[in-house]
Formats: sequence, C-alpha cells, structure tokens
Amino acid sequence: MAAQSLYRKWRSQTFDELVGQEHVIQTLRNAVVEDRIGHAYLFTGPRGVGKTSMARLLAKAVNCEAEPAHRPCGVCPMCIAVSEGRAVDVIEMDAASHTSVDDARDLIDRVQFRPAQGRYKVYVIDEVHMLSTAAFNALLKTLEEPPAHAIFILATTELHKVPATIVSRCQRFVFARHTIADIARHLLRVAEVEQIQLEVAAAHAIARSATGSMRDALGVLEQLASFTSGVVKLEHVTSLLGMTSAGEVDALIAALLAADVAGALRAVNSVADQGADIRQFTRDLVERLRLLLLRVATGAGALDDVHPDDREVLEGWATQAQAGALVHWIKLLSNLDFQLRTSPYGNLPLELAVVEALVAPPPAATPCRTPPAPARAPNPTS
Ligand SMILES: [Zn+2]
Repeated sequence: MAAQSLYRKWRSQTFDELVGQEHVIQTLRNAVVEDRIGHAYLFTGPRGVGKTSMARLLAKAVNCEAEPAHRPCGVCPMCIAVSEGRAVDVIEMDAASHTSVDDARDLIDRVQFRPAQGRYKVYVIDEVHMLSTAAFNALLKTLEEPPAHAIFILATTELHKVPATIVSRCQRFVFARHTIADIARHLLRVAEVEQIQLEVAAAHAIARSATGSMRDALGVLEQLASFTSGVVKLEHVTSLLGMTSAGEVDALIAALLAADVAGALRAVNSVADQGADIRQFTRDLVERLRLLLLRVATGAGALDDVHPDDREVLEGWATQAQAGALVHWIKLLSNLDFQLRTSPYGNLPLELAVVEALVAPPPAATPCRTPPAPARAPNPTS
C-alpha cells in the first residue's frame, strides 16, 4: 500500500494540476463551463494514466460551488468531500471486485434518488469491463433513460470487453500513455516538494521503466525514497529495477553498429557475468534500438522526449545506423523474451540473436535478387 500513497497524495485536485491528457481536459473543461454535461462518459486507456483521477475531477467539477470557469476549485466543501471520498453523491465502484448482478441492481435502485447535497449524482465505475453480462444489462437499462441528475463515468483498460451497446451510449475519451519527459518532470517536482533528493538521470530512468504509467513511476520513487538515505541516484534505480546500466546496452549497440561480432558477444557475456537480469537487459536493448529507429526513420524531433545525455548518444549512432538493419535487430531481439525465460541455456538465445543480427544480413539491406528469367518457348523464328 505504501507504494500507492505518493500517487494518492499527488492526485490532481484541479484540471490545471493534471499531468498530460490535455485534449481530454480541454473538452471536459468546456463542457463544464458551457453546462453541456453528458450523462455517460467512457474513459479508456492503459493503467496508471489518470483515468480515475480525471473521473474524480469531473465528479467534483459538476458539483463544485465555485464559478463555472473555476470548477473544480479544489477548496469548496463539495470538492473537499469528493477528494476525501466522503461525498454521498459520488459513488465509486471497482467492477473488478463487484461483479455480481446484485451490486448493479443496488446501483440502479439508488440512481433514481435525487442527489443529497450536490447538483448531480455521479457514478464512477472503474474497470467496467469486469462487470458480468447481467450487470451490463442492468447498467444498459439505466443508460437508456438516465435520470437528469445522474452522470456515469466508466473507466476501462480493456475497451474491447465493453459491450458495444454500452460504448455507443457514452462520450468516449482515449487516455494516452504519459511521455517519459512528462513523467520525469512530474517526478522531479514531487521529489522537490516531498524533500526527496532525486538525480535527474534517476528520474529519467524511473520514467523509462514506468512505460507510461505515472502510478508505477511514483510507486518506484516512493520505494527508492524509503530505503535510500541522501540522494536517489541512477544506480539505486537500476539496482532496484534489475535494469542493467545504460553502459552495457550502449556497448552492445555500438558493437552491432560496427559489425563487431566479438565485441557484441563480449558485451553479452559481461552482462551475464555481473549476474544482471538478461531479460531486462534485452528489453532495455530493444527500447534503445527502438528510439534509434524512430530517430533514423522520422528525424530529430523523435528524441524530444529523451534525456539530453541519451539524445547525444543516439544522435551519434543515427549517422551510422540504417533503418533496415535496425528493424531486423529489433525483430530478432524482441522475440527473445519468452525464450530467455524458458531456455535452460542461460544467455545462449541472446548470443545466437546477436550473431544472427550481424551474420545474416538484414532483409532491407539485401538487394532483391533478380528473378530467374521465365522459361521461354523456343523462338519459332530461329
Ligand atoms: Zn469546488
């Protein structure tokens, strides 16, 4: 639970505080200001990107006592009650733990009653795809004729499991993963206020490992802060997450780019000798090659999100790398995860992939062989 508390504490209290998801904020803010609140919203996107935070903000905004342009104000009694989870008109349900039809019937029974304190009764149903079929049917009936005072905010990580009949009755918002730069910036800000000394490189490493989830990133920061006295450094992050240091990843990529098979195998063995997690190493490797491919394929703007030190290294490689070879390597290496987990031969799958990467030429770099001339009928004139 400790890992979540920093995330809870830093949950945004107003639209301005929310990190990322600008398109969603803009649309919802306008709806609040212009009093065009819908009856059903569906927030979709990966975990930890702010769906539930946004649902709470909207629940506050529709009941906030401030001027419309300043809703949610975060300080009026209604806003505070929602923040503290004691607003009687805001009902939060986690469908992952309430899948029975009885719960949904309870919900429907209660929706007919007018709100006790606010203007709207707001139902926030998290992981809505987990509802049973019967519960979905009950929800659907309510969405077909929602009482004027009811607002449903449904959130899901798995849109394809939500029945189309429900989806079609909701205003849908797609939440994007947070960028590495957004997460790193937020971590540094949280660290400053919480008086955690956090190295910039460490913030970027946490951000990279969080794969777009602010919740995961703050969880890692909290863990690090609890066992590190003094400054949280890059090596603390790498040892906690079993990440290999960027040095070994870079050594292997440099060897690949130089077509240096011996150097590449040395890099693999050096990682294995240190007892580092070879799967994590391979994932880090794939992630770095992916960035390099983006840079090569789409230009310098692709690296805006990257730490300046890393950017410099990637820019250097970009001059010698070819997209075709990178695609070939990424395909080879990204297929290794399962093999590395199940293989009884340790790092052998990675060694083979590295040799294959350099020995077998990438398909794009191989000129197409001229197709054999079609068999021709003997020339009747000769
Ligand atoms: Zn308020």
